[in-house]
Amino acid sequence: MTERSTKEWGDADKHALWHPFTPVDAWCDDRHDPLVIDRGDGAFLWDTEGNRYLDANSSIWTNIHGHNHPVINAAIRKQLEVLAHASFLGTTNKPAIELAEKLVGLFPDDTLSRVFYSDDGSTAIECAVKMSIQFWQLSGSPERCEVVTFDGAYHGDTLGASSMGGIATFHDRFAKFGYPVRRVTEIAELELIAAENVAAVCLEPLIQGAAGMRFWPEGMLRELRAWCDRTGVLLIFDEVMTGFGRTGKVFACEHEEVVPDFIALAKGLTGGYLPLGATLTTDRVFDAFRGDGDRTFYYGHSYCGNPLGCASALASLELFGPERTLSRLVPKIDRLAEGLRALEAESPHVVHARNRGFIGAFDLVDGRGKPFPRHQRVGADFCQQLRGHGILTRPVNDTIVLMLPLCTPMEALDELFGGLLATLGSFSP
Ligand SMILES: *Cc1c(COP(=O)(O)O)cnc(C)c1O
Repeated sequence: MTERSTKEWGDADKHALWHPFTPVDAWCDDRHDPLVIDRGDGAFLWDTEGNRYLDANSSIWTNIHGHNHPVINAAIRKQLEVLAHASFLGTTNKPAIELAEKLVGLFPDDTLSRVFYSDDGSTAIECAVKMSIQFWQLSGSPERCEVVTFDGAYHGDTLGASSMGGIATFHDRFAKFGYPVRRVTEIAELELIAAENVAAVCLEPLIQGAAGMRFWPEGMLRELRAWCDRTGVLLIFDEVMTGFGRTGKVFACEHEEVVPDFIALAKGLTGGYLPLGATLTTDRVFDAFRGDGDRTFYYGHSYCGNPLGCASALASLELFGPERTLSRLVPKIDRLAEGLRALEAESPHVVHARNRGFIGAFDLVDGRGKPFPRHQRVGADFCQQLRGHGILTRPVNDTIVLMLPLCTPMEALDELFGGLLATLGSFSP
C-alpha cells in the first residue's frame, strides 16, 4: 500500500467511495475529516494519527473477543495456508462441518439440528423466510405464505430483508418494491390475524436493535412460542445482533428457554472478523425437503461455507471456554448498569438509561426532557464529541448505543463513563 497522509487517505476516500447509512454531503464536506482506522487490539482501535479509541459499539455490533486476537488470528492463518475457499455447491469442507456440529451443539437435542450457511444477517434471514415458505408448499399447505414481522423490526437491507423491516426511515422508500409482509405492534395483535395463511413470524428476541435498543416485555418469547405451537406458524428468531453473549447468555432466547424453528446468526458469529451467516433449523423442516419430485431448496451464495469464515467462527466459539467470557462478563454488566444509572442521575440530558446484559443505551433529550427535532442530528453530534474523549460509537437517532466487545476490561468501562460524563458536562445542543 502506498504511504499517504491521513488527509490524502480522506480525500481519496471522498473521491472513490460511497459509505453505508451515511449522508453523502456531510461525508464529502471539506470540513469533514474521515476517521481512518488503522489497527485494532482488544477493545481498542487506533486511527492513522495514532489516536486510540474504545470500540464502544463493537464495530457495528460484530466484535466479541476483541480485535487482533492471537487465537482467532492464528486460526485464520492456519486455514489460509490450506484453503481459502472452495464451493459449497456439491462439495464440502472441514471447518464448515466442524462449525455446523458446534452450532447445533449449542441448542437442546432434537431442536435446531441443521445449518445452512450464507454471507451475512440479511441473507441468513431471507434464507429462513424462503425455507419456511417452501416448507409449507412441500407439506401440502401452499396457502401458508404470509410472513409476520413487528413494527420497528430490522432484519437487514437486501430487498427481501428490508421488506420485513418496520423502520420508516430505512424501509418506507422501498416498501412497495418488496413482498407484502403483515406487521403487528405487539403480540396481542396476533390473535386478530388469520394464522392459517401464515408461514412464519419473525422477531428479534428481547431487543429491537436498529429501532433504538427497544426492549420487549419479559415473557414475550414464551408467549410467541405458545402462539406458534397453537397455530402451526413457524417461529424465526433473528439473533444476528443478540447472539454470542451480548445479552449475558450465548443466545437471547435462552433467557426464556425458548427454541425457535429457525434462528438467523451473523455479526458476532466469526467473532467480528469475517462476514458469515448461518440459518439453523429443525429436522422437521429439513425432512420436508427429502423425497420424490423436485424438492430442492434452490438458494445459495458463491461464498457459502467459506472455510476462512468458518475457521474464524470456530476459534471464536472455542474461546468462550478458556476465556470464561460469560462468567467474567457478569461484573461488567453490573458496572454498565451502574454507570448508566449514574448518567441518568447526573445529567438532565439523559433519559431511559437501560441495559439488557452487555447491551446498553440511553436517549438524549433537551433541558426540559423533550426529544430534539430529528433533523438536528443531536445524537450524531454527541458521538462526534465523544471521539474527542477516545470513545467510538454510533447512535440510532438520539439513542446512544453502548455495546462493547465482551472482552472489554473493567478499567475501560471506567474510561467510558468518564468520557460520557465529560461530554454530557460540556454538551450544549
Ligand atoms: C445487522 C442486523 C441484520 C442484518 O445483518 P447484515 O449482516 O448487516 O446483513 C439483521 N438483523 C439484525 C437484528 C441486525 O442487527
